[in-house]
Amino acid sequence: MNYNLAAFDRSFGLESQLPPPEGPEIVFSGRSNVGKSSAINRLFRRKALARTSATPGKTTTVNFFTCPLTPAPGKAVFVDLPGYGYAKRSASERERWGRLIDGYFGGGRDIRMVAQLIDARHPASEDDRMMLDYLAARGLPFLVLLTKVDKLNKTERAARLEGFAREIPGWSGWTVIPFSAVTGEGVEPLRALLDGLLGA
Ligand code: GDP
Repeated sequence: MNYNLAAFDRSFGLESQLPPPEGPEIVFSGRSNVGKSSAINRLFRRKALARTSATPGKTTTVNFFTCPLTPAPGKAVFVDLPGYGYAKRSASERERWGRLIDGYFGGGRDIRMVAQLIDARHPASEDDRMMLDYLAARGLPFLVLLTKVDKLNKTERAARLEGFAREIPGWSGWTVIPFSAVTGEGVEPLRALLDGLLGA
């Protein structure tokens, strides 16, 4: 697939607004500030397709991007879920987040993969663990993108990889891609994996 051809489609704040599925979907999920916008921009070789911000918690919408499935017909849909774990959110905002996520995942869509982003530097947060449990409980296909690996030296990186495997049940059986939006590490393995899933 030619990732350069991706384009922003639409944003949705309420599950009732979500459009019917238009093609196979690849989803990005993670806590605020984990590096989701940066990862999407890097994947699509763009500076600001998904907005990046040093202020966490700004995106509270589900954002859709599309990319033609060249040479196959049709298009792939890339879905940027709103970040979670932003402490300053009110209870009603968190409730809206929950409804939006449930509405999205419960909508009978052709979800080929959820890329769950986790910051490589720290143990997964309580919210990360809940999200992983949620994805597993729904039987969704998911992989882990370990973000910001450029911030770890070799020793720290080995220690965290070992830590995740020890801390999170099931971890060793999952596809885990160390990723950096700064160095580009992990971008090609991710593209290759997604191309395989999308038949593009
Ligand atoms: P989002 O809230 O998950 O969309 O996170 P952003 O993509 O906006 O990134 C949050 C902050 O982390 C920004 O200051 C980014 O520049 C920084 N960041 C994101 N990805 C990386 C990365 O791979 N390496 C480093 N060193 N910083 C990153």
